[in-house]
Amino acid sequence: MAEFAPPEHVADDCIFCKIIARELPAFVLDEDEHTLSFMDINPGTRGHALVIPRNHSQDLIAIEPADLQATILSAQRLAARMKDRLQCDGVNLLNCCGADAWQTVFHTHIHVIPRYKDDPERDPLRLPWIPKPGDMADIEAAAQELTA
Ligand code: AMP
Ligand code: ZN
Repeated sequence: MAEFAPPEHVADDCIFCKIIARELPAFVLDEDEHTLSFMDINPGTRGHALVIPRNHSQDLIAIEPADLQATILSAQRLAARMKDRLQCDGVNLLNCCGADAWQTVFHTHIHVIPRYKDDPERDPLRLPWIPKPGDMADIEAAAQELTA
């Protein structure tokens, strides 16, 4: 296995930094100079994995652009591998940014979640919201807050 330089940014109390340092075990799938991919131990579907940057950052807002770019490219690579090796029908990428957005580990990561059609055993996931038409005035108001 290739050896990579230690990350520039490490947090002492971070379990994902410890996985990168190989101080904690993980089922590693892939790695490159900037990222590491490994299995999630509480999988939402069969094959659910995580991609993390080697450099510690707390979340999507804090991560350096170069680390984010490398992380999303690794997620793309892993999604393609899932389609090929696990014969999944699709893949979801998920990032939780902030405790109120379900983030529980504060080292930026992207969930790479293979999806299996009509297979509740391997894939029990359902959309967490019910899509329905929104209030146009409120949609416009939110757009203005985001653009003003
Ligand atoms: P999030 O809730 O988006 O912060 O995701 C954190 C994910 O990390 C969860 O899906 C956990 O199951 C997963 N996780 C936590 N500890 C470990 C670990 N030691 N090895 C692999 N996955 C982990
Ligand atoms: Zn970390």
